[in-house]
Amino acid sequence: MKIVDAHNHPDWCGHDLTKFLHNMDENGISQCWLMPWECAPTDYSSYYQSKIPAEVLGSTTGPIPFTRCLSYVERCPERFILGCCPDPRRPGACDMLVAAHDIYGARVCGELKVRTMFDDPDVIRLCRTAGELGMPVTVHLDYDCQKTRREPWSEWFGGTIDALERLLQACPETRILGHAPGFWIHISGDDLWQTAKYPAADAPVIPGGRVSELLRKYPNLYGDMSGGSGRLALSRDPEHARRFITEFQDRLLFARDYFDDGLQVFLDSLSLPEPIREKIYFRNAGKLIAQ
Ligand SMILES: [Zn+2]
Repeated sequence: MKIVDAHNHPDWCGHDLTKFLHNMDENGISQCWLMPWECAPTDYSSYYQSKIPAEVLGSTTGPIPFTRCLSYVERCPERFILGCCPDPRRPGACDMLVAAHDIYGARVCGELKVRTMFDDPDVIRLCRTAGELGMPVTVHLDYDCQKTRREPWSEWFGGTIDALERLLQACPETRILGHAPGFWIHISGDDLWQTAKYPAADAPVIPGGRVSELLRKYPNLYGDMSGGSGRLALSRDPEHARRFITEFQDRLLFARDYFDDGLQVFLDSLSLPEPIREKIYFRNAGKLIAQ
């Protein structure tokens, strides 16, 4: 079966293009959405220095500049779908997105990962522009969980699930993919989002989670299941995962944001019907960029 990885990055976690392609082949992945991460230097912690070569590259646009995505796509156009997401706070961000779409064929707007609320006017403007271009937007939500005086600075992106809801309301024509710890922690209707980035592996899934609620309420919301957060949200309760994937089978996407096979192994363990497997592994991703 064809597999599309709907979320990954160039030069990420020790992978150059050769290693990247080798890893895709090893995991049976035919195509990958390749996304930059453009934000201010003050938006992210030093944790990422070992995973990305931004400073070595001399990037002025953020940890993973668009030009690196373009380089991969130009060298291997049949394996990658080009993503672009200028920092929305930059003057001209919308024009840059239009140019990337028109000149270089960018088809996905992502990854949107900035230390700004999702319902900030600049973010809304960029997401509306993406919607007009038919580009889905992949957003990274992370809460500010830091509570100690000793380390007052902590990393957060996008704000809250409520800010995401307001973005969904403000951009009904834009298809938005929810992603990352702050999004997937809301698979469950508990208060873990206030204290934990990642829940315990066996934390029960309590009914009433915001993810399901928002997916039911907003047809423009999709789920990017990548990263530890997506896999963990599902594997907390495999029975719930089966029901969740069945209900939202038209709006969930297989994705990795890394180079492992953890999500693949878990999804395959669920014995999902073949038509659902096809949707989450490649058909939904294909539909989203078909415009
Ligand atoms: Zn990512």
